[in-house]
Amino acid sequence: MIFFVIEMKQAIDKACNLIIKLQQLKKIRGYVLTGAGVSKASDIPTFRGEDGLWERYDFEEVATYDAWIRNPEKIWKLYQEGIDLILNAQPNAAHKAIFQLENLNLSQFVITQNVDSLHQKAGSKNVIEVHGNFTRIKCTACGRKQILSKSPEKIPPFCDCGSLFRPDVVLFNESLPEKEISKAFDIAAKSDLVFVIGTSAEVIPAATLPLISKRNGAVVIVFNPEKTTHVQIADVFIQGKCEETLPIFLQELTKE
Ligand code: NAD
Ligand code: ZN
Repeated sequence: MIFFVIEMKQAIDKACNLIIKLQQLKKIRGYVLTGAGVSKASDIPTFRGEDGLWERYDFEEVATYDAWIRNPEKIWKLYQEGIDLILNAQPNAAHKAIFQLENLNLSQFVITQNVDSLHQKAGSKNVIEVHGNFTRIKCTACGRKQILSKSPEKIPPFCDCGSLFRPDVVLFNESLPEKEISKAFDIAAKSDLVFVIGTSAEVIPAATLPLISKRNGAVVIVFNPEKTTHVQIADVFIQGKCEETLPIFLQELTKE
């Protein structure tokens, strides 16, 4: 345990030194890439990792378009719970720290795979949602979108045009929203600094963004309790829960 703490402290020191060096050279262009791990402390479960949702559900049964069409009522029941959970969730120390990175001018964008609006609730301004938003629904026929303030009472919900509504999230085997993903790739290619926080590195194409930045010379800092494949390209790996490590990192950074 003591060894682990020393290792974390060393990693944080290394990250701070790299950032300070970079700041001396130029005005930093940076972004944060986030995944479900960031929202775990807000009681929203992740898909993978310890206690991940895929240990309880078969994604082929609940998160593909075919499953929706086969049994919209069953799936909507599950989503109803999810929508309530997300609407009631509050940002945690990690979301707040990520907003601070923006205030410190170390990051200008949050590219998130999360669908829970918690970055926006914490104050982040430029949030790019590459997997959609769980509290927004869209009509499967006319494409009309609606933002929910509570989960639909009658399920499955129908649009005025008579067709089924679905959550406006990217399901398995679906392509990503074009505008968002092309903006994300553009940011990744032009950045000097990347914070990769709470993502398993298993969902493509979002997982390739830090690789693109690295290839273009960016400094990559990874925050995760587990050694994901992003650690292989990281300049620094800060191992631990991000809601704990990020505030310590910020404290060190602003002390210098
Ligand atoms: P993932 O579920 O595949 O992986 C979660 C990652 O978070 C793992 O690497 C895990 O080690 C890490 N983690 C767990 N606890 C952590 C903590 N306290 N601090 C830091 N890291 C922690 O998530 P993903 O990489 O985002 O990709 C899967 C998909 O899951 C995305 O498409 C996303 O849309 C969806 N998803 C979103 C939410 C949400 O919006 N909150 C929740 C579940 C799944
Ligand atoms: Zn419609």
